[in-house]
Amino acid sequence: KDSPNLFGSLFEPATRSRVVPVLVPMPAPKPYSYTVPDGVAVEPGSIVQVPLGPRKVIGVVWDGEDDGSVDAKKLRAIERVFDCPPIGREMRQFLDWVAGYTLSPPGLVARMALRAPAAFDPEPMVEGLRFVGGQPERMTPARARVLDMARDGLSWTRSGLAHAAGVSTSVVDGLIAQGIFETIFLPPPPVVALPDPDFSAPRLEGVQKDAAVDILNTVRSGGFSVALIDGVTGSGKTEVYFEAIAETLRRGKQVLILLPEIALTASFLERFQDRFGAKPAEWHSDLAPRTREKVWRQAVTGEVRVVAGARSALFLPFEDLGLIIVDEEHDPAYKQEDRVYYNARDMAVVRARISDFPIVLVSATPSVESQVNGQSGRYTTIHLPTRFGDAALPDLHLVDMRRHAPERGGFLSPVLLRGIGKTIERGEQALLFLNRRGYAPLTLCRVCGHRFQCPQCSSWLVEHRFRNQIQCHQCGYAERTPEACPDCGTLDHLVACGPGVERIAEEVERHFPEARTIVLSSDMAGGVKRLRLELDAIAKGEADIVIGTQLVAKGHNFPLMTLVGIVDADLGLANGDPRAAERTFQLLSQVTGRAGRTGRESHGLLQTYQPQHPVMQAIVSGDAGAFYDREIGERERALLPPFGRLASIIVSADARGDAEAHARGLRQAAPQVSGISILGPAEAPLALVRGRHRFRLLVHGRRASDMQAFLRAMLAHGPKERGSVHVQLDIDPQSF
Ligand code: ADP
Ligand code: ZN
Repeated sequence: KDSPNLFGSLFEPATRSRVVPVLVPMPAPKPYSYTVPDGVAVEPGSIVQVPLGPRKVIGVVWDGEDDGSVDAKKLRAIERVFDCPPIGREMRQFLDWVAGYTLSPPGLVARMALRAPAAFDPEPMVEGLRFVGGQPERMTPARARVLDMARDGLSWTRSGLAHAAGVSTSVVDGLIAQGIFETIFLPPPPVVALPDPDFSAPRLEGVQKDAAVDILNTVRSGGFSVALIDGVTGSGKTEVYFEAIAETLRRGKQVLILLPEIALTASFLERFQDRFGAKPAEWHSDLAPRTREKVWRQAVTGEVRVVAGARSALFLPFEDLGLIIVDEEHDPAYKQEDRVYYNARDMAVVRARISDFPIVLVSATPSVESQVNGQSGRYTTIHLPTRFGDAALPDLHLVDMRRHAPERGGFLSPVLLRGIGKTIERGEQALLFLNRRGYAPLTLCRVCGHRFQCPQCSSWLVEHRFRNQIQCHQCGYAERTPEACPDCGTLDHLVACGPGVERIAEEVERHFPEARTIVLSSDMAGGVKRLRLELDAIAKGEADIVIGTQLVAKGHNFPLMTLVGIVDADLGLANGDPRAAERTFQLLSQVTGRAGRTGRESHGLLQTYQPQHPVMQAIVSGDAGAFYDREIGERERALLPPFGRLASIIVSADARGDAEAHARGLRQAAPQVSGISILGPAEAPLALVRGRHRFRLLVHGRRASDMQAFLRAMLAHGPKERGSVHVQLDIDPQSF
């Protein structure tokens, strides 16, 4: 059935070469050569189907000439050219650039930009009804309602008409049987409504207006530029970048908005619709495969004008992209750590540079990297220092836990409990934030001290009491919570150490048995759908107390939320990572920023054992500037990013010895380059994951050093991956 479907006339200026390089979605170091059958035209960027071993795969004709190293007679031929605009030259350059920068096989990078051929099937027609006329043999109230509806002259589907008339489909079927309606085929409903830049523009005032003028200037100048919108939560950053989007739409170009948690931000799509009269296309991993293929296709053909997506949307081969917005640009979710390790924020800047269009980074707490680029003038910073309208930032206080101890077995201080009580008495909402899923992070036996550890990872099993399980948060391993200690056999002597959100929920329940409480965490039963419903319920005021992990921190607008309690503000500071202070500051600012978005007086209480810590001081004083200056100073002294370069090499293997030996071999193979040094190998921070032992080499270089050349030389001269050994490179690692 899959006969070759070749049509050459689709592509003008055809390159008439007999052998072309084709990049296939495999971890191969370069494109493979294929012959082009007579009468078929392809050009760089054409999407084709080629045979690969026993399989047929989709690939993309790549740039460059075939080097003639393989005898053309031995080459296999392109089997099919898909009816689809080719992937543009700039996008191909971008994919090559990402492969070179991340030291990933180009095929794996191209795979992120390619979709299955099924995407090119035309939309099926839908079965519809046409009102023929006449009267039924016997008129009933239900039939009358259907006829009433149908007289509008609109075209209906069978179930659509039944639904609109409030009757069952059998009533409609009865009328079809009597010839009053006939079935016809309708074209599919239009899937893309076009956003209108002038649909409903808000009136911008004061600083917001100045910011919009700045943004519009960068967009109008057309070429590559980076603007950083640095404004407190609720200052109207979104409205400002909407102006940039409107201007880009007027200029007839496509827009990409990257958001860290798009699957959970239905409210963003609605807001966009209010402003532009149509929703943007969504792009994230929770889309149904068919929808995903459709959006891909429409981005390529230009039918879709605006895409709002997760980091992977950066690899959509847009027909004519003219602007990228990276909202919450500091968010760690922009880092992909799977196969191709990349930071979508950084790669988005490269994408804009290659195609010579503007990019806007947006955050209430910009990354140190972006701050430095702003200070050096590489980026234009646009400040929005106050909340929009009469909304004020919450009033933030530290709760020194050394002086305000919770009651035995509890984690909430009396001050925080009183705050919650007062808030819900007023009919407002309180949010308790704890970035830890489950009931308790560690379970041990009171008698022998046995700790439950994952059999295949170096991490503790986390108790999830709601599910009666202990789980590994690394690999997902789970078992029923045991009744007896597996070591000493004692019954009912397991103790939970420390809190997770489930345990906080239990404590809240004890103190506020009447309150409507919602617990939100990413592992909640029901997945994304359920989470969306719960978030909606919170926004509508159907909950009094919300207890959640970081997914409640991102972008939601809860009008009634006036108290945010941070259960353990010190949590993120413990791990000794140089980025820990920055990350904690960003997360705490974002979470406390959920409060008071609609003009009500609001508060934040941060429980800490380190009230003097610079992060805590920066949060309560609101003096982010001083905090960033300190952080930037420390990075500069240690030559850490962005003042130096880092790469992490993780070597993993089934046997510990193999991983370690391979890592040592790589280190020995490293060239001597002044300004570049290697730390390790040492056991990686997670030494065992899914049964694989991991060793890490950290490579540190001065800013001007060519890290990629160094790593390529090291890999070329070092031992080859063999057996279970795998080497993963991570340029610009998240933690170091
Ligand atoms: P941020 O993105 O900085 O958190 P938003 O853009 O979400 O801030 O703005 C906060 C709130 O203020 C939103 O409810 C938004 O609709 C409202 N808002 C911002 N600017 C305007 C404006 N110019 N006119 C009307 N409402 C505005
Ligand atoms: Zn595990």
